[in-house]
Amino acid sequence: MLDIVSFTLGPAQTNAYLVADSDTKDAAVIDPAWDGKVILAEAQRRGWRIAHLWYTHAHFDHIGGAAEIADALNPLPLVALHPNDHVLWRVGGGAALFGFRIDPGPEPTIDFVHGQILRLGNVQFEVRFTPGHTTGHCVLYCAQENVCFCGDLIFAGSVGRTDLPGGDWATLEKSIREQIYTLPDDTRLLSGHGPETTVGEEKQFNPFVHG
Ligand SMILES: [Zn+2]
Ligand SMILES: [Zn+2]
Repeated sequence: MLDIVSFTLGPAQTNAYLVADSDTKDAAVIDPAWDGKVILAEAQRRGWRIAHLWYTHAHFDHIGGAAEIADALNPLPLVALHPNDHVLWRVGGGAALFGFRIDPGPEPTIDFVHGQILRLGNVQFEVRFTPGHTTGHCVLYCAQENVCFCGDLIFAGSVGRTDLPGGDWATLEKSIREQIYTLPDDTRLLSGHGPETTVGEEKQFNPFVHG
């Protein structure tokens, strides 16, 4: 069974998700935003082993805690990111643009591919390629737990901004329609910012992309 602990951290109030198979205690951090030590302490308290860092995209506020987490772990966690966001990762996720500096932590060595299956103990996640907010944005869908970690693609009542480098409105809208609005209506959406919502809720009420 999948256990999910959420954190809201850093200057952009970014949601980080510590997820684990509660039976095997294998854990991953989806978007290790900012205070890595806080996420790490929670994993240690629960006896979970963080073996993976999964990035929906490479913006600085979603990866700023990676170094603190990785520095405390041996072996190092494997970092996964879509290759289209590698350039963004190498420039610190655009931190300088916002007046910040981050240590980006270990280099991504796993390339996300659309349709790829990620395994965490007995729990599986499907990678869905969802560009528009950045060119390499992906969401992680866990069908067996009815939940989708959707980064900065869609939020409760809003959508990801498309005015930063690599952003494109038409692409974002297409990603939402084809990769989110095709999921079952009761799928929980856990976003990169703000509260949790569902596919059905957004299809009905999202003011930017109607279902
Ligand atoms: Zn972002
Ligand atoms: Zn964000």
